[in-house]
Amino acid sequence: MAGLSPSGGINVFWHEGMLKHDTGNGVFDTGMDPGFLDVLEKHPENSERLRNMVSILKRGPISPYISWHSGTPALISHLLSFHTPEYINELVQADRDGGKELCSGTFLNPGSWDAALLAAGTALSAMKHILDGHGKIAYALVRPPGHHAQPSQADGYCFLNNAGLAVQLALNAGCAKVAVIDIDVHYGNGTAEGFYHSDKVLTISLHMNHGSWGPSHPQSGSVDEIGEGEGFGYNLNIPLPNGTGDRGYAYAMNQLVVPAIQKYEPEMMVLVVGQDSSAFDPNGRQCLTTEGYRDIGQIVRKLADKYSDGRLLIVQEGGYQVTYSAYCLHATLEGVLNLPSPLLSDPIAYYPEDELMTTKVIEAIKKFQNSTAPFLKGG
Ligand SMILES: [Zn+2]
Repeated sequence: MAGLSPSGGINVFWHEGMLKHDTGNGVFDTGMDPGFLDVLEKHPENSERLRNMVSILKRGPISPYISWHSGTPALISHLLSFHTPEYINELVQADRDGGKELCSGTFLNPGSWDAALLAAGTALSAMKHILDGHGKIAYALVRPPGHHAQPSQADGYCFLNNAGLAVQLALNAGCAKVAVIDIDVHYGNGTAEGFYHSDKVLTISLHMNHGSWGPSHPQSGSVDEIGEGEGFGYNLNIPLPNGTGDRGYAYAMNQLVVPAIQKYEPEMMVLVVGQDSSAFDPNGRQCLTTEGYRDIGQIVRKLADKYSDGRLLIVQEGGYQVTYSAYCLHATLEGVLNLPSPLLSDPIAYYPEDELMTTKVIEAIKKFQNSTAPFLKGG
């Protein structure tokens, strides 16, 4: 199947069992019914978002470039490469007890644990596919999402850190250096926390400047959370002003991400993607359109080709507008495929973008990172 495009295709790893994680209805993501609303909406992290992502890749114009693979559940032993045994026991117990709200908005309901194991295992299968040399580019289409899940703490709809587990698999397989670029609109605090003391993983997160959000998310995502010990300098946070759009993200990628990857020279690239950085997401305040996502896909592909022998794992995170998330995913993968022109036009008009503030912030971040992170110093 691969090889239909000039640059090879994308191996998508998926399993419909992940749809069985039912997060319920309520006032937005609270799970609560105040009694005075006739219409309780679905929790934003619902199965419909993934159903649209699957169908657009199956029936959209990108479909000839996609080969499908089935994900398999992770074993408990796999999870211990990133998570503590105490935390995994807590999750297993919550499942046995019939469910638990582990932290605000994060519901482990009947069926959720099996879905979480599938999400983790599917991300591992996708990474293994690359490590075994079966394909250069793999996309783990997974839910529940993972990038907020810390070694010993659930957070932000996430139980298991799917991307973090895949990164650990690559390290265990002998990869000396892995770079993670996280463009979900929220700080990838779980992944950052997991590798905070390591120089073997460069974690870069572009996010809106939302700060800490309570005991499950004590990290602020600010520029000075830069890693510790051997990991000092290897966690690069890029908190972008609200309203940052296509041009602002492209500027951040070219000014901050590309030079960091050039200096780091990773053997494996991981793109952690959330479509909640789009202009229409209920959980985000950024303004990416399909064009911006396409550009990011293209930039990351170019970096993978140059530094990691084209090896690129893409892992799905947030993205809660049921229609637009699917379109933004399609556009991202078009970019990753390096197609000469867009296959789909943007179905929704976009908000105007004011670049001035974003440019100033990015210049300030560049100055800080270049003077602080040892591996970025000297040019
Ligand atoms: Zn998010």
